[in-house]
Amino acid sequence: MTITEAAIWEGTGPDAQAFMGRHIGPDAGEVAAMLRVVEAPDLHSLIAETVPASILEPLADGVAPGLTETEVLDRLRGIAGENRVLTSLIGQGYHGTVLPPVIQRNILESPAWYTAYTPYQPEISQGRLEALLNFQTLVCELTGLDVANASLLDEATAAAEAMALARRSSKVRANDFFVDADTHPQTLAVLRTRAEPLGWTLVVGDPATDLEAGSVFGALLQYPGSSGAVRDHRATIASLHAAGAVVAMAADPLALCLLTPPGALGADIAIGSMQRYGVPMGYGGPHAAYMAVRDGFKRSLPGRLVGVSIDSHGRPAYRLALQTREQHIRREKATSNICTAQVLLAVIASMYAVYHGPEGLTAIARRVHRLTQIMAAGLRKLGVDVRNDAFFDTLTIDAGKDADAVHARAVAAGFNLRRHVGEKSGLIGISLDETSTQETVRAVWQAVAGDSRPQLDAMPEGIPEALRRQGRLLDHAVFHAHRSETDLLRYLRRLANKDLALDRTMIPLGSCTMKLNATVEMMPITWPGFCDMHPFAPTDQAQGYARLFAELQASLCEISGYDAVSLQPNSGAQGEYAGLLAIRGYHRSRGEAHRDICLIPASAHGTNPASAQMVGMQVVVVGCDSSGNVDVADLRAKIEKYADRLAAIMITYPSTHGVFEESVREICSAVHDAGGQVYLDGANLNAQVGLCRPGHYGADVSHFNLHKTFCIPHGGGGPGMGPIGVGAHLAPFLPQHSEAFDSHAVSAAPYGSASILPISYAYIMLMGSAGLRRASEIAILNSNYIASRLASHYPVLYRGDHGRVAHECIIDLRPIKDATGITVDDIAKRLVDHGFHAPTVSFPVAGTFMIEPTESENKAELDRFCDALISIRAEIRAVEQGRITAAESALRHAPHTVADLLATDWQRAYSREEGCFPAGARRTDKYFPPVGRLDNSYGDRNLICSCPPVEELSEAAD
Ligand SMILES: *Cc1c(COP(=O)(O)O)cnc(C)c1O
Repeated sequence: MTITEAAIWEGTGPDAQAFMGRHIGPDAGEVAAMLRVVEAPDLHSLIAETVPASILEPLADGVAPGLTETEVLDRLRGIAGENRVLTSLIGQGYHGTVLPPVIQRNILESPAWYTAYTPYQPEISQGRLEALLNFQTLVCELTGLDVANASLLDEATAAAEAMALARRSSKVRANDFFVDADTHPQTLAVLRTRAEPLGWTLVVGDPATDLEAGSVFGALLQYPGSSGAVRDHRATIASLHAAGAVVAMAADPLALCLLTPPGALGADIAIGSMQRYGVPMGYGGPHAAYMAVRDGFKRSLPGRLVGVSIDSHGRPAYRLALQTREQHIRREKATSNICTAQVLLAVIASMYAVYHGPEGLTAIARRVHRLTQIMAAGLRKLGVDVRNDAFFDTLTIDAGKDADAVHARAVAAGFNLRRHVGEKSGLIGISLDETSTQETVRAVWQAVAGDSRPQLDAMPEGIPEALRRQGRLLDHAVFHAHRSETDLLRYLRRLANKDLALDRTMIPLGSCTMKLNATVEMMPITWPGFCDMHPFAPTDQAQGYARLFAELQASLCEISGYDAVSLQPNSGAQGEYAGLLAIRGYHRSRGEAHRDICLIPASAHGTNPASAQMVGMQVVVVGCDSSGNVDVADLRAKIEKYADRLAAIMITYPSTHGVFEESVREICSAVHDAGGQVYLDGANLNAQVGLCRPGHYGADVSHFNLHKTFCIPHGGGGPGMGPIGVGAHLAPFLPQHSEAFDSHAVSAAPYGSASILPISYAYIMLMGSAGLRRASEIAILNSNYIASRLASHYPVLYRGDHGRVAHECIIDLRPIKDATGITVDDIAKRLVDHGFHAPTVSFPVAGTFMIEPTESENKAELDRFCDALISIRAEIRAVEQGRITAAESALRHAPHTVADLLATDWQRAYSREEGCFPAGARRTDKYFPPVGRLDNSYGDRNLICSCPPVEELSEAAD
C-alpha cells in the first residue's frame, strides 16, 4: 500500500511554528476555562453577543495567511535589500549620525525602555523621567532658553506649534506670520497647512530685507538657514520685539555647540530636530523634535514637560509637570493636540549627549565644521561658485546647467546631494555630518569639479566672530559622569530598573492597547536598509520602502474597509488632524466651505476636540445616555440645529466606555443625511480587526494607532504612527508631500516615521487574517473575563445590550470614595505594591479605572491582576467597617518603598509586611518603586524643569 503525498508530509508544515500562539496569551485550555467564567458556550457566541449583528462581518482571507518568524524576517530582509543605501549629504534637517552601540542595544533594542508606557504614574517611571529631564536640560543648554519640553513629533510640526504659541502670546493683532525664506521646505509646507484653516497668512521672505516688523504677530527664522547660511538675526529679533511680535528660531542642535544660542540672540522660542544626536534618519523618522521657550512662556508650552517635585518622604522625585495642561482635560481649549510624542528618541538623544559629554559634542561639531571649511576652500579653489560665506556644515553651490551631471556623478560615486535649494535651478546643497571623512570631501570635489586634490592655501572662516558660542556647555554632572562604557551601561540599567514596563507586568491601560511588541517585529528597524535612508533620497533608491508602504496600505485597507491610506501622520492625534483636513477639503471642493461644526460626544478623548479646533472647526458636544452610549436623541437635535453647518462627527468605536454601540450605523446615516462626514477614532481598532470594518458600516475616515493595535511599542510616550484610512471620495484630500511641498503636508517627512512601519507590517504578516481575527476575539474575551471576575467586587460601569463589554471595561470607584474617602489614586498606587501598572485613571469618567488587558496576557496574569484588585477591595472593606481609617491605611501610604521597609520607627496602623508585601505580591522578585507617592502640587508651585543641582541628586541617590 502506498501512502499519499499529503500523509507523508503531515505535521511538518509551518503550522507547528505559527506565530499566533506566541502573540496571543491564552491557550485553548485557558480559553475554555475563561469562557465558563463569562458564561459563554464558545468564542463565537461571545462575539455574537458583543459585536452588533448589523456590523459583524467576518474578515475574508484578504490578508495573507500567517508567516513564521523566520519567513517574515526573510521577507523583510528582501524588502530592505531593495532599498539602495547611499551616503546622503542632502541635509535639509536630516543627517548621518552614529548611534553608539551601547545605546542601540540597551535602549533602542531593550524592552525595558521601548515597552514602557507614558509616565503618568511617576512612581514607576523615575528612570525614563530622569532621562527626559536630561533631554530638557540638554535642550535648554543648547538653545540658551529657560524651559524645554520632553519632545515634539518632528521639526516641522514643532515649527507649527511655535507659530501657534506665538499667536497666543503676541501683542500684535495682525494675522500674518513671517517665515524666513531660508527655512527647510518641509517646515514651510507644514506651516502652510496649519496656518490656512486658522486664517493666518504666511509672509515668506528674507528677514534682512522683506520684513515689516509691525505687521506680523511673530516670525520663524532658521539657524543656520536651510541653504547652510549662518546669519546674525539679532537686529531682526530686536525690531520684531520692539513691535511686540514673538520670535521663534529653528536651530540645528549640533551647530549650536559652536554657535551663539538662540536665547542669547534674543529669541523667545527655539525648535528643531534632535535627529543627529544619534538617531538614524530612518527615511524620515521617528526622531525627537525639541521646543524651548523663555520663562514667561512656560505655561503655554505645548507637549509634555517633566519637572521635579518631592515624594511622600520629602525627597526629590520627577513627574510630568502642569498636567492640567494635558489635552484630556483642556479639550477644545487645549493649545495643541499633542498626546503621543517621541519619548524613546528623546531618551536616545539625551543619552548620546551623556555618552559624548560637552567635550565630545563640541569635538564632533568642530570636526564637521572643519571638514566643511576644507570642502569650501577646495571647491572655491576649483572654481566652483560657493554661495554662502558663513556656514556650519552645509554649503550651497551654483552648478548652473551642470547640476544634473553633478548629481549623476555623485550618485555614481555612492552619494546623494540636495537637488533643490530655494527657487533658482542649478543650486545644489551639500551637508557634511558626523560620519563624513576626508574621503567624503574628496569625493565631493571629484563629483562637483572633477578633481579630488585641489591645492589649498588658506582656510576660510565659516562662523562669524559675533556668532561664536561663549562660555561653557552642559556643566551638569550627568553629562560628565558616564564616559566609560561600563559606567554608561550601569547607568542605563539603573534607570531601566526603576521603571515598570511590559517586560515585567501587564499594563492594563484602557484605550492604549499595551499588547505584545514581539522581538521579531522589532529586529528589522535597526537594519541599515531601513534606518540609513534619507527621506528625500531619490525614490529609485527607495524601492523597498515603496513596496513595504504599498503592501501595508493594502492590508490596512482590507482590515478597515477603506479605499486609501496615508502613512504620513506621526501619531493618532496627527491622524485626526489630517482626517479632519480631508473632510474640510472635501466640503470646500463641493462649495460647502461654510460647514464648520464638529459634533463630539462628551466621552471623547481630549485630542478629538483639540484636533477639530486646529482645523478651524467649532466643537459642539453631544451628550451620552445613562448606559454610556451616544444620546441619539440629543444627536438628532444637534444635527437639526446645525444642519447647514454640520461638517463632521467624531466618534470612537467601540466607544471609550468600552461598548459596541448598537446604533453606530444609525449615527453614521443621520450625519450623512445632513451632509456631514463621519470621523471614526480608530484607537479602539483592537476590538474590531477581523470582526467588523469602519469603512463598511458608515465611517468616512479613521486613524489607526499603529502603536496600539499594530504593535509598535509605546516607547514611554512615543514613537507612534497614526496613518489614516479614507473612503474613495476623501482620497483626493489626503495629505500630500509633493516635491514642491505645496499641498497639505502634516509631517516633515512624506511617510512619517517610515522606519518603524516594518513593525506593523511584520505583525500583520505573522498573524494573517485568522490570527488577526483571533486576536480581537481573545482581547474581547480577556476583557469580559476581567469584568466577570471583578463584577462582584466593583461595579462594572457600562455594558452592551447583551451584558458584554468590548475589549476594555470601566470599573466604578466613586462609590468607594463616597463611602470611605479612598480615592482612585490610592487604589492605583496600591496596585504598584502588587507589582502592577495602574489602568487608565479617570478617563473617560472621573473616579474610575478603564482596564484593557489585550489578547497578549494569559489567564495567569489576568488572575494575578484580578486577585490584586480583589485583595485591595478587602483592604477597602476594613476602612468601610471602621477597622482602620483611610488616612491610616496602607492604601493611602502606597506605594511602599524600601525606605518604608527599613524604617526604624514604624508607627503605622498596619504591619510592615502588609504594607510592603500585600497578599499575593511576589516575594522573590518584588518590585519596589524608587520613590514614595509624588506631591504634584508642590512641583507645580515650584516649577523646576531641568536637572536639579548636583547635591540634591546625590542625596536622592542615597
Ligand atoms: C490614544 C488615543 C488617541 C490619540 O492618539 P495618539 O497616538 O496618542 O496621538 C486618540 N483617541 C483615543 C481614543 C486614544 O485612545
